[in-house]
Amino acid sequence: MERMYPPRLTPGPLPRELEEHLRGLITSEATPTIPVEAPFDATTIGHVPEGGQSCVDKAFSLAREAQRGWEDTPHATRRSIVRTFHSLVLKHRELLMDMVQLETGKNRAAAFDEVMDVASTARYYAARAEKLLTPRRRQGTIPVLSSTVEHRYPLGVIGQISPWNYPLTLAISDAIPALLAGNAVVSKPDERTPFTALLVTSLLYDAGLPRDIFHTVTGPGPVVGGAIAEHCDYLMFTGSTNTGRILGETAGRRLIGFSAELGGKNPLIIAEDADLDKAVDGAVHGTISNSGQLCVSIERIFVVGSMYPRFVDAYVQRLQSIRMEAGFDWDVEMGSLASQQQLDTVTRMVDEAVSKGAEVLTGGRARPDLGPYFYEPTVLTGVTKKMELYRHEVFGPVVYVEAVADLAEAIVYANDTDYGLNAGIFAARDTALAAAPLIRVGGVNINDSYSATWGNIDTPLGGAKDSGLSARHGEEGLLKYTQTQNISEQRYLQLRGPRSLKRKTYASLMTAGLKALAVMRR
Ligand code: ADP
Repeated sequence: MERMYPPRLTPGPLPRELEEHLRGLITSEATPTIPVEAPFDATTIGHVPEGGQSCVDKAFSLAREAQRGWEDTPHATRRSIVRTFHSLVLKHRELLMDMVQLETGKNRAAAFDEVMDVASTARYYAARAEKLLTPRRRQGTIPVLSSTVEHRYPLGVIGQISPWNYPLTLAISDAIPALLAGNAVVSKPDERTPFTALLVTSLLYDAGLPRDIFHTVTGPGPVVGGAIAEHCDYLMFTGSTNTGRILGETAGRRLIGFSAELGGKNPLIIAEDADLDKAVDGAVHGTISNSGQLCVSIERIFVVGSMYPRFVDAYVQRLQSIRMEAGFDWDVEMGSLASQQQLDTVTRMVDEAVSKGAEVLTGGRARPDLGPYFYEPTVLTGVTKKMELYRHEVFGPVVYVEAVADLAEAIVYANDTDYGLNAGIFAARDTALAAAPLIRVGGVNINDSYSATWGNIDTPLGGAKDSGLSARHGEEGLLKYTQTQNISEQRYLQLRGPRSLKRKTYASLMTAGLKALAVMRR
């Protein structure tokens, strides 16, 4: 049954009734003591409980109990719940965007990206889940005699730990395929952005999801996240590489599957045959989107030869005219950083680079006149290996640009990183298509900085090297939440041959058989 929600939110504390409703969705008996801050003006919008081990224990026990019934629920019912959820997300989009903006300080267009992502993911997996999960006949080893079928069954209860930068998308988009595959989910949103996660979960319940199939526990990462990792049957994590390593160790010890999307130091290449206007537009988008607090945002730009001065002039000029502001207005192009901690990190890294000789082409300073955590889009050049931001992710609107001799050199620089998440290349189509596979990252955007690979959800997207493990999206994004089961039948004759056959004769016959199969190219 659908609840009544306020149509919009205003700056300041959440309406009391909404806050209480959302808090009621948390699996916790603890008192609400964690303040949730609005980065636009550093005011407190509400409080959530500081959950601990016992809340996680309870969430898993209820989820495990409920999951058995959910696994047996027909595909059509699960699909219909997700489709209704899709409609509710679009219906309540203004409220969702308000909540996202209140909790993160991002601009409205970036908040809409989250709404769009959740709706697209829901639609995509609702349409495909049943087919992906239907037992699939595979090729038998010996024609006629062997028959083999790939089955899939749900893993049980999936643990999900998500960050603050995309609190709507990352609270639910990875959970949707897990739910459609017949799993329950226990989720821990970041303690800085719990209300967005709870609001979208509320819509999922309104759409008909049984309450115990999806549990949210709020609280500190190492305590609540750590306990989830110890209980779950598969762990989906998005966050920092450091936390990813800690969780990966737990997953390894427990022998459970683990999917992690972690940090990046994403390169953008501008080739000599690129369309300058499009390249500038794409670079600006990749720099300022979500104030640069995006795993896939651009932090390094390599520009080939004669393109360099023209590109840098136009890019810097465009960044200087960005409309940066607090508020819900659609025309604002960049919002705030999300917290004091983010502002401190960005400031520290830029100041360190400048103190070691980097040149600031634009930006390089905070803007307290706009809000407590605003920071200007910043372009540096002359960045060297001595500077922390040469290799480490800033996670802010901070990019360095370098001129390179040719495309081959650009690719060498692009690959000179421990990360391997995302890259973009602006070039004539043939140039880009030839260069793209040579950039060793999980996603390469041709004539774009990151949206193409993120938005085309039929292809899996994951991080190479220190940027992650496994992938979201595509078939893999759902199948990873299932156990494969090989059900095979050998008719008339066992693969090991009849008992009466001498082993040596069997070996000769099989050798001849293997040769015949190779001739048949099977
Ligand atoms: P970020 O630097 O972007 O905040 P984190 O990796 O610290 O990235 O946080 C991402 C998510 O992981 C958050 O929900 C956070 O609370 C949680 N988290 C942080 N540390 C741990 C940990 N040791 N174990 C489990 N979860 C954690």
